[in-house]
Formats: sequence, C-alpha cells, structure tokens
Amino acid sequence: MNVSRAWLDLAACRDVPHDVFFTDGGGPGVLARAREVCGACPVRGTCLADALRWPALAQFGFRGGMTAQERQTVVRARRGALAVEAAR
Ligand code: SF4
Repeated sequence: MNVSRAWLDLAACRDVPHDVFFTDGGGPGVLARAREVCGACPVRGTCLADALRWPALAQFGFRGGMTAQERQTVVRARRGALAVEAAR
C-alpha cells in the first residue's frame, strides 16, 4: 500500500525538537509542550490515524495529541469492539 506522507509537510512539530514528543522521563512540562504543539497542528487527525494504523508503534512517543498509553487504550478498545462484532 502506498500511503502519501505529504501531510507531514504541514506538521506543527516539524521544527520542534523530537525530545518533546518522546516524553518518557521528560516530566509534565515536556508533556504539556507536546500537547500544546499537537493542539495547534492542522494535521492532527491525520497524524493520529496514521499512529493508530500501526499498533506496534503505539507504544512509542506522543503523536496526534495523545501519549503512547492513551493510544494503546484506543487500540485495545478497537480490538475489543471488533471482537464483539465478530462474535455476533
Ligand atoms: S499532531 Fe502532533 S505529532 Fe502529529 S504531526 Fe501534528 S504536531 Fe506532529
């Protein structure tokens, strides 16, 4: 599958140090900065959809306005919903 990455050109994080988005051990100030940047990002929805498309990557970094833990919760909820649907 060929997925366009052109949206990355519009990312609000383009010029922000990557450390801000890998917040493990960075403390609440770093996390707040990541939320601030993502909150103003014009491609947040696309970014989040991309992050959720690859569940193996859900355990790393802050993307689409969500922490890795928050994304993992979404991934698990989706899997649960699919399992319920499949059991019908
Ligand atoms: S939502 Fe956040 S991590 Fe995703 S592209 Fe925008 S600024 Fe970067």
